[in-house]
Amino acid sequence: MNLCNACEILDGMPSSTKPHPDLHKEGIFQGVLANGSHNAVVYRCGTCRTAMRQYSERGEIPNKWIASVDPQPVMANGYEVSVEIDAFDNADSFGALCKISHLEKDGQRRYPVPSQLYRGYKSPYAAAKDALAMGVAHAKGLPPG
Ligand SMILES: [Zn+2]
Repeated sequence: MNLCNACEILDGMPSSTKPHPDLHKEGIFQGVLANGSHNAVVYRCGTCRTAMRQYSERGEIPNKWIASVDPQPVMANGYEVSVEIDAFDNADSFGALCKISHLEKDGQRRYPVPSQLYRGYKSPYAAAKDALAMGVAHAKGLPPG
């Protein structure tokens, strides 16, 4: 889910910001709006292949550019580090919940430390990226899993 520099800069910016030169319009994301007004315009990046949504004022995250991301778990020191993007209280602050787990020999997944919530980010991507990095650093400080 790594964004190129141009997408990372645009992510979380106001929708009035122009798309960067390597973003190509893919279509309109209608979302849940039934009144015909669009939710977001979707662009695909030619560099990092990320779908960037330019939300309208009626969009679910009004007037912002937001990268569509699906964070995948990573392995660190024998542990699986995964993140879930947290529902936001408002469109200006995003969070991600980080879980560190270990698959035991009996096939049970165990969580050696409590899940940690990181909040206050400009976008879901920014929250997930930081939560994943903090989780990896934490896992490396644990006894090998
Ligand atoms: Zn990109």
